Formats: sequence, structure tokens, C-alpha cells
Amino acid sequence: MKLPHILAVDDDSSVLEALKRDLRQQYRKNYRILATTSANEALDSLKDLKKKGEEVALFVSDQRMPEMLGVDFLKQAKTLFPDAKYTLLTAYSDIEAAVRAINEVQLDYYIGKPWNPPEEKLFPVLDDLLSDWQIRHRPAFEGLKLLGYQFSPRSHELKDFLAGNLFAYQWLNVETDPDADKLLELQGLDRKALPVLLLEDGTALAQPTIQEVGEKLGLSPTAKQDIYDLAIVGAGPAGLAAAVYGGSEGLKTILIDKRAPGGQAGTSSRIENYLGFPSGLSGADLARRAITQAQRFGVEFLAPQEVTSIESKGQYKHINMADGSKVVARSILLSTGVSYHKLENESLDRFTGAGVYYGAATTEAYAFKGQPVFVVGGGNSAGQGAMYLSRTASEVTIVIRKPDLTATMSQYLIEQIEHTPNIRVLPFTEVGEGLGEERLECLVLKNTESGETQTVPAAGLFIFIGAKPLTDWIEMNIIKDEKGFIATGRDLVPYDEFKKSWKLPREPFALETCSPGIFAAGDVRVGAMNRVASAVGEGAMAVSFVHKYLAET
Ligand SMILES: Cc1cc2nc3c(=O)[nH]c(=O)nc-3n(C[C@H](O)[C@H](O)[C@H](O)COP(=O)(O)OP(=O)(O)OC[C@H]3O[C@@H](n4cnc5c(N)ncnc54)[C@H](O)[C@@H]3O)c2cc1C
Repeated sequence: MKLPHILAVDDDSSVLEALKRDLRQQYRKNYRILATTSANEALDSLKDLKKKGEEVALFVSDQRMPEMLGVDFLKQAKTLFPDAKYTLLTAYSDIEAAVRAINEVQLDYYIGKPWNPPEEKLFPVLDDLLSDWQIRHRPAFEGLKLLGYQFSPRSHELKDFLAGNLFAYQWLNVETDPDADKLLELQGLDRKALPVLLLEDGTALAQPTIQEVGEKLGLSPTAKQDIYDLAIVGAGPAGLAAAVYGGSEGLKTILIDKRAPGGQAGTSSRIENYLGFPSGLSGADLARRAITQAQRFGVEFLAPQEVTSIESKGQYKHINMADGSKVVARSILLSTGVSYHKLENESLDRFTGAGVYYGAATTEAYAFKGQPVFVVGGGNSAGQGAMYLSRTASEVTIVIRKPDLTATMSQYLIEQIEHTPNIRVLPFTEVGEGLGEERLECLVLKNTESGETQTVPAAGLFIFIGAKPLTDWIEMNIIKDEKGFIATGRDLVPYDEFKKSWKLPREPFALETCSPGIFAAGDVRVGAMNRVASAVGEGAMAVSFVHKYLAET
């Protein structure tokens, strides 16, 4: 097997020599190190590598070079190897340029010169980037293969599940990929069996449920212990943070999710405002790091497993699951977050998974290569989705009812959108209707001021609107506001039901619901901030209240 490459470029031959020496020392076992003093020569070599089907995992480029600036070199390199990791070597005076490059070329990191000792200043950064690259990277013919029709809701559900649970897989659309029918034939199957998942051991699952896939791939749907100190329902940022703190502080902790770790954040193509990650990180990376961290502290992770009800029986809480199994715990954290509002529109409903998607920009973006797509919503998630889609789609139109994005989207995203030529914003507009035979083909858009309508070609519609708390399933007496968000701490005080039911001599803790020992954190809570950092903060905070509660029982 050919080793992937690391490419270093610096016009100063003595700096390049030192860099080459350090890179070889650390990475030569797993990567081929290429080094050159000429950016143009490097671009020629890259074209050759591309032709030969070889791979580049990492670029390390100097910023100030006579032929071209490092940022410009990386921009060109990115068109050839978009999935590689990009770092810039900078002198102190170039840091401003490097920070700008984070937005311009989606730079992964900048490294200050000199980088001595490399064990402290170079290798930890590059190790981290290369491990991210390795996770995404699968050489041809290895790993899972999913075969199906592009515009099939069931195929979409499986793609979403595999991606969410960080399983690398190859997608083969039977209508465009000539290998797909051959692979089906080898299994003795035909297109009626689609979607089909081919496993690494050579076996096939025809039309599997996500539970069957989860089980086959080693995800655990059943609890191992009889009783836990803390059961966390929902593995978004709030649940993951609570799991890390619970596990690290000695609580016997179980984390349950109906789909995959990461929650909404896991579907984000790039979170740019999370503390400590100056060049941003993808939701999938955040989820992978967090679930690994939680499991390292002994937390049990149950997925895919949907919690359908909870009950409080004195000091024990029962958590009932969709498959009829049960977990017993001394405390519960509800961190089930929110989901997107559905666009109430029958003409769109029939295309859900066949051109119309809720979120899901990262899983489906490549299916819309060279085609026009629409994004509905003006929040940060819509902005990130549009940026991600703009890499492949011919044009991305953001449809909003408001006059502009200023009231709803962060300034950094607005600027990125303004600088992206194939994204346009359509204000005072709503989606009226979806048209098409088997899949979405056109949209009817309505101007909310003039009432005028226009029909436009649209291959995809990605909806990022609203936030509906996932609490309908909670039948027990947990106080929620009129929209279904869970009331905790002081927010409980105005409710008459609370005055009647709360029997403890103390007030509820800040994140405690009206049922002692049942807590809520993150987007599902009344007054939530809808940010990754605040969900993480609340998850961590909830664990300290769990300790206090357990100490009194
Ligand atoms: C596309 C996108 C981009 C975003 N970008 C940013 C950003 O850049 N910066 C930022 O700060 N914020 C961002 N946000 C917002 C941020 O992701 C959320 O505020 C955060 O994820 C909330 O975390 P949470 O843990 O409360 O809930 P969620 O992330 O919603 O997670 C809830 C979890 O609970 C699970 N669940 C629900 N019901 C059940 C059940 N009955 N049984 C079992 N499991 C269940 C779900 O499967 C899910 O995994 C973004 C959101 C989206 C959608």
C-alpha cells in the first residue's frame, strides 16, 4: 500500500532542512515526506500525485515566499487535495496573515517559527491533525459500503446514522456507480433489496434498520450494570460534558442516545466559536473526541437506543427504552436538546430524504455537485450549512423572511457568506411549494412583501429553522413551558403545580426539574442559550448538583 504524503514548502533551504529532519524523525514510518523550496514546483508535484491517485495528508507551508505567499499556495493546493490538513509556518510578524488565512483557506493551524523543541511545539499539533485526517481517510476497497438510490429516504437515514456514529463508509449510488450492481450481484441480490450495507467481513445487510446496523457494528444497545448513579438521556454537547464530568468524578454513569453522539453539534460542518479551537472544528470531530474522553473515564454509552419514558420511584429512577429494556439510576439528566421544525407543507413532505433535508448538509452535500440548492433559515446553523454546500453546489440560495441576516447570524459567518461568490441571500421570501416527480426538482418561492411567486430549479432544499424541544415523550410530571421546554431551578417558582408538588425543605438546584434528582441541561431547558459552550457548561454544572443530590439520599 502506498503511504500518504506530507508536503513541506519553505524557500529558505536551512529552515526546510530542519523541518524535513523533524518531520522524518516523527512521521517517516507512516508517511512519505516531500520537501521543496519552490511553491510552483510543489504545485507541479501535487498535480502528478493527483494523477497517480496518491494522497496528501498534510501541508506545512511557509508564509513568506518569493514565488507566492504561503496562503496563496495553500489555496491552490486545496483545489487538488481538499481533504488534507493545512498548516502555515509563520514568523511573529505574520500572525495576522495567518489568522486571516483561517477564514480564507480554512487553515487548520499556524505554527510559529522557530518550533523548537518540536516535541512541544510541532508534533502535538501535527499528531492531532494527522489523527483527524486518518479517521476520515479510508483507502479504496476497505471499510463499509452502502449501496442505494440517492433520493431514497431509507438510504439517507442510514447515511446519517453511519456518519453520526463516525463510521467511515463508501456510498455507491446504483444509478450512477457502475460497481454497485456488480457488488449486488456478487451477494446474490438485486435492486429490490436496496439499501444494502456491505460489511468488512464480506456479508451484506439488506434494508437493515439502524438498530440492526448498530448491533452489527458493535454499538451497544443494552446496559451492562443493574444500577447507575447517573443516567444521561441525550448525547449532545450537554450530555457528553455531563458524561465526562460524571465519569471522571467517580459516578457510575450511563449515556443513552437514540442516534449518535454529538447531537445537533455533531451535524455541524464547522463550529468556529468554541473556546480553544481558533481554526474551528467540525461537529463530528468534537463528538469523536468527547465520546472517547467519556469512555476513557468508564462511562457506558448506549446507542442507538431511544428513551420512551422515565419514572421516579422514590430514590430510584427508571428509564424505559423503545426495545422494552430498562435502566435504573439514582439520578437522571435530561439533555435531549431540540430538533428542527418541520416546514408544514405537504408538497415538501413527500420529498423528505429525496431532495428535502432537515439539517444534514454534511451527509448529502456531495450529491448536489454542480446543482443549485436552497437553504431555509437565517441562523448560524443555516449559515454553516450554506458554506459547506457552497463547496460542491453550483449555487446556494439562503431563503429568509427577514430583510437580512444581521439579527440572526454571527458576523463572522455573514462575512464568510459575503465573500463566497456562489452564495446569495434572498430576503423577504418563503418557500411556497416543492415540485418534482420522484425527487425535488423545483421550488415555488413567494415574496412576502409583494406576494409575487417565482418557480426556480432546485435540486436540494436544506431546512434549518426553529427549535422544538424533544420532550413530548416525557409523560411523568415534569413541568414544561407552553412550548415544551423543561423548567428548572428558579424558573419553577411561578408554577402552581410546583408549589403543590415540591416537598423538600430546600429549593431545587439551578438545573433540577420539579422532580428531585431529575435534572435538565442544554437546549432542552427553559431559557437555554443554544450554544455548544453553554450546553457543555450546563452539562458539567449538572454533575455538581447530582453529587449534592446523591449526598442527601
Ligand atoms: C448545524 C448546526 C450548527 C451549529 N453551530 C453552532 C456553532 O457554531 N456554535 C455554537 O455554539 N452552537 C452551534 N449550534 C448549536 C449547538 O449545536 C446546540 O446549542 C447544542 O448542540 C445543544 O446541545 P444539547 O446537548 O443541549 O442538545 P443536542 O445537541 O440537541 O443533543 C440532544 C441529543 O439527545 C438525543 N435524544 C433526543 N431525544 C432522545 C430520546 N428520547 N432518547 C435518547 N436520545 C435522545 C438526540 O439524538 C441528540 O443526540 C449549531 C447547531 C446546528 C444544528
